[in-house]
Amino acid sequence: MARNTGAVCRLCRREGLKLFLKGDRCFKEKCAFERRGYAPGQHGRRRTKVQNYGIQLREKQKVKRMYGVLERQFRGYFARAARSKGITGTNLLQTLERRLDNVVYRLGFASSRSMARQLVSHGHIQIDSRKVTIPSALVKPGSVVALREKSRKNEQIKVCVDTAKGRGVPAWLELDADQFQGTVKQLPERDEILMPIQEQLIVELYSK
Ligand code: SF4
Repeated sequence: MARNTGAVCRLCRREGLKLFLKGDRCFKEKCAFERRGYAPGQHGRRRTKVQNYGIQLREKQKVKRMYGVLERQFRGYFARAARSKGITGTNLLQTLERRLDNVVYRLGFASSRSMARQLVSHGHIQIDSRKVTIPSALVKPGSVVALREKSRKNEQIKVCVDTAKGRGVPAWLELDADQFQGTVKQLPERDEILMPIQEQLIVELYSK
C-alpha cells in the first residue's frame, strides 16, 4: 500500500493552507503552518508569478494531499468520475469522500486521515459486520461502519470519539457514538463538502 512518508507539514506550507494532516497538533500553536506560513525551502518566501497550469496543478496536489491519495489512484478516481453521470468534479469529490479511511476520520474514530488509514489496515474497522482492511474501499448509502468490539477499549480511539461527539459529523453520516458506529445515510452533496476546493481546476488540468 503506497503512501506519502515524507514530512507532512511541508505539504501544508507548500499548498498555502492547513490540510489538517497531523490530528490534534493541527489545532495547537505547534502547527508549522501557524509558525511559518510560507512555502518550504530556501526560496519559500519569494513571490512567484503562477500561470494557469500552475494554479490547476496546485489545486490537484492539494486535494491529493488532503485525502492522502497518490497520483495513480487519483487519476483512476478522475477517470471513474468522468465516466459516471453528472458533474465530473462533484463525482470526483464524492468518490474521495466515500473512501473508508475518510469516513472513519469523518466519524471521529481517528484524529487524522492517516490515523484512520492505519486503523483500517490494522483491522480495527468493519463494514456491515465484516472486517475490512482496505483504506480505499468505498462505502455505499446504507453501509454501517463500526469499530470492532475489541478495539472499542483503545484509549486513543475513545478520546477521538469523545472529541468527535462535540464536533459533530457531516449531514450525510449518522454517528452512534455509544455503539462506536456510523451509518452512511446518503452520498455527500457538493455543498456538504466544506473544504476549500475548486474541483473545476482539476477537471481542466486533466482534460488538456
Ligand atoms: Fe498542516 Fe497539521 Fe502540520 Fe499544521 S500541524 S502544518 S495543519 S499537518
